[in-house]
Amino acid sequence: MSKVESATRYIFVTGGVTSSLGKGIISASLAKLLQARGYTATIQKLDPYINIDPGTLNPYEHGECYVTEDGAETDLDLGHYERFLNVTTSQANNVTTGRIYQSVIDKERRGDYLGETVQVIPHITDEIKHCIKLLGEDHKYDFVITEIGGTVGDIESLPYIEAIRQLRWELGNRCIVVHLTLVPYLAAAKELKTKPTQHSVKTMQEYGVQPDILVCRTEKPLNENIKNKIALFCNVSPAAVIESIDTDSIYRVPLLMLNEKLDIQVLKKAQMSPNCTPDLQSWEEFVNRLQNPEKTIRIALVGKYVELMDAYKSIIESLIHAGTSNKCKVEVKMVHSEQIENGNTENLLAGVSGIIVAPGFGERGIEGKISAITYARTNKIPFLGICLGMQCATIEFARNVLSLNHAHSTEMLPDTPYPVIDIMEQQKKITLKGGTMRLGAFACNIKEGTKAYKIYDNLNISERHRHRYEFNNKYLEQFESNGMIASGRNPDTNLVEIMEIPDHPWFLGVQFHPEYKSTVAKPHPLFVNFVKAANDFETGKTN
Ligand code: GLN
Repeated sequence: MSKVESATRYIFVTGGVTSSLGKGIISASLAKLLQARGYTATIQKLDPYINIDPGTLNPYEHGECYVTEDGAETDLDLGHYERFLNVTTSQANNVTTGRIYQSVIDKERRGDYLGETVQVIPHITDEIKHCIKLLGEDHKYDFVITEIGGTVGDIESLPYIEAIRQLRWELGNRCIVVHLTLVPYLAAAKELKTKPTQHSVKTMQEYGVQPDILVCRTEKPLNENIKNKIALFCNVSPAAVIESIDTDSIYRVPLLMLNEKLDIQVLKKAQMSPNCTPDLQSWEEFVNRLQNPEKTIRIALVGKYVELMDAYKSIIESLIHAGTSNKCKVEVKMVHSEQIENGNTENLLAGVSGIIVAPGFGERGIEGKISAITYARTNKIPFLGICLGMQCATIEFARNVLSLNHAHSTEMLPDTPYPVIDIMEQQKKITLKGGTMRLGAFACNIKEGTKAYKIYDNLNISERHRHRYEFNNKYLEQFESNGMIASGRNPDTNLVEIMEIPDHPWFLGVQFHPEYKSTVAKPHPLFVNFVKAANDFETGKTN
């Protein structure tokens, strides 16, 4: 490759007309196609809100908070990036307006601007450009794909679009703009309508940015006429009008984009030759297995945000990955923990072959989670407790097996007589909420001969965390001599990371979040093994 060919390309993915068109999935699919052609790519999300990160956001506001290896609390789209690419992301992959302003204001206070008036242009836009180019430093990647959150035309995304406009001048053909829009179908007129796309491209043009490629989300195929019309009005070639038709699985999108030649258009604009065929064999095999399951397994996910699948995005995706590994479709039954509290446990959980108790914070629904665990433990139903789910499993065991009445976590009941889950000493002095939990990857040593060891087939693992409270080691001996053992511990602090009940077909609680590490290329062993156990449970029931 010549020097020009090898320089990092910057691709921007903007969105028009409406939110929720799937910019994250389009970005991840494009990166996947480039990766399949042998290029290296990373994806970054720029979020135009003022929060420093989504760590303090309620899941109702913004769905799940995804945690990276380096402990950044980030947008859930980063989960898609990792799941598609099997490459880890970091704090640098998610920047918010809050973080940009914080950095500029810190510089101003330090006197770095030497008396200048600090303004949106150039100081904020310079900071945005700096964050974008940071990922391209040292030529770590052939492509840096930057997804701009929000919809073009929003007041808060203006500085980001302006930064793209400036970068076009600086980077020339190393800068490509992909604009995702909606082509709605009007049932009454029986027609696809291009006007919203025309308007959103016009808005981009008013800001001085001409998109290179338009990805058009649609429920009906776009015929040549429609593509030509969009091309004519929006100042792009017809080949650069890409159809993105609704599909039943996000994992099919890279294959749809391949058919539509999105990657070829990008390479052309970047003046790079699409000189090889993309290797998507294992991806295609995955999609094939996903679409041809041999059976369906029902798993209950007990949590308090059941109306909102996005709140548990990574868990749901991990179950999809694990299902394909087991040749089955996992049907997730969302069960509201507060509903269980009304004494409905059996009705709500009848017929499921596995139970997951979800991560979470606060008191609401906690007794429902504990009842679901009693049900799983006593009926020998495969059970996986994640973070708060693991903490609930130990509370349940303390109360019902060790007879420690009113045992609890000090998060929910600060003066419980039996604080089996307690806040860490270092956490007690912390008053700020943002970014102060035990966050990111920590090592865990696994005990030989345990179920955890069988699952991981490894004595040393590393998993990602996001919590303040921990198992209280004062009670460990009592737990272990009564049938619940610590099968994973942190090698430096001795904190308990995995609890299991050996005398149960499959009962594990993990203090960490395995769901952040499951990818299409590497489904997470805990989920794969859990779904297998659920499958065995189901088979046992029918035999
Ligand atoms: N609320 C619990 C804690 O802070 C669990 C957190 C979680 O499930 N992520 O320890």
